[in-house]
Amino acid sequence: MPGLAIKKEPRGIKEHEEIFKILRALCVVAVCFLAAACVAASPAESVTPSPRPTLDQVGDVSPPPSTNRPQPTFTATRKPTPLKTPYPTKIPNATFTPVKSFAATLIAPPQIRLGLGRPIDWSDSNVVDPYYRYGTTQNGKLHPHHGVEFYNPAGVPLYSVGEGWIVFAGPDTGVLGGVGSYGNAVVIELTQTFNGQPIFAVYGHMDTITVKLNQFVPIAFPLGTVGSTGMADGPHLHFEIRVGYNDYESTRNPELWLKPFPSWGVLAGRVLDKDGNFIYEASIIARPIETAIKNPSTFYSSTYANETVNPDPFYGENFVIGDLVAGKWEVLIKIGLEYRSQIVTIKPQQITWVEVRE
Ligand SMILES: [Zn+2]
Repeated sequence: MPGLAIKKEPRGIKEHEEIFKILRALCVVAVCFLAAACVAASPAESVTPSPRPTLDQVGDVSPPPSTNRPQPTFTATRKPTPLKTPYPTKIPNATFTPVKSFAATLIAPPQIRLGLGRPIDWSDSNVVDPYYRYGTTQNGKLHPHHGVEFYNPAGVPLYSVGEGWIVFAGPDTGVLGGVGSYGNAVVIELTQTFNGQPIFAVYGHMDTITVKLNQFVPIAFPLGTVGSTGMADGPHLHFEIRVGYNDYESTRNPELWLKPFPSWGVLAGRVLDKDGNFIYEASIIARPIETAIKNPSTFYSSTYANETVNPDPFYGENFVIGDLVAGKWEVLIKIGLEYRSQIVTIKPQQITWVEVRE
């Protein structure tokens, strides 16, 4: 039939296609490898999710004294906390008997690391995401997390947690290190130091950036907005504290540094084997017994997954659960097949310490 002609592809195009296919395959492999840094993967059945803190939990706290900008009335302008839908709401299974009690080793920790401001305003979701805390892996599905997440819609403003200089502002070209892409990122080198070492606050996955390299910023200064640039499963802030060096290997647990809500505190501790070594990825449950607010959530987490994350040099912790309302809590720590139980009192603005040995 007239008009029908089979076009012969020039050889050059075919060769280009082959090259393109290979490149595409390499990209897919690379992206798969990178994805685990900060992306919260869809959980499988085996994940024991922590419930997201509810608005009720956050609702009773008053604005922090540390910020120098006018604080909004907490109840008036609050938006609903966005739900990260992939996670099923699962009631904890109470079959973890036998439960043995252990003695908490209470120490009087210095509180200096709890002085930083919050990176997100109180009118937005300013609670650390409990599903992927520092050093945890979501039951081995992700790389040990070198930071913490704050889930918020794109466009929510981000603020400096302390005064300092902007030492990085722009798209992550790999200089921030690690196996993930931070997208649009800001790094502040704080004016305060820790044991003479510089402290860096890292903000990842930003949408817009409104500060410039070498700019000096006071605490609570707007830096830009929440986004999902880089390897992110949706809009959120990936936040890190780095001490000594501005690199991926020098992170610390931000929940030991960020100032808790006025009537909230932090649970931290360590889980050790018979020889005093860290037990990796031991399950930890923090269950409310008697607290100032009604029915706060039970939290599920684990000890640090390995040594790619760093304990604080003073505490030597291998788990932290921050953002706990003050009151009595039961801490359950799984060693082997058993859960050990300890009742602790979470005090406002303080770290409560527990330690358990195999
Ligand atoms: Zn992250």
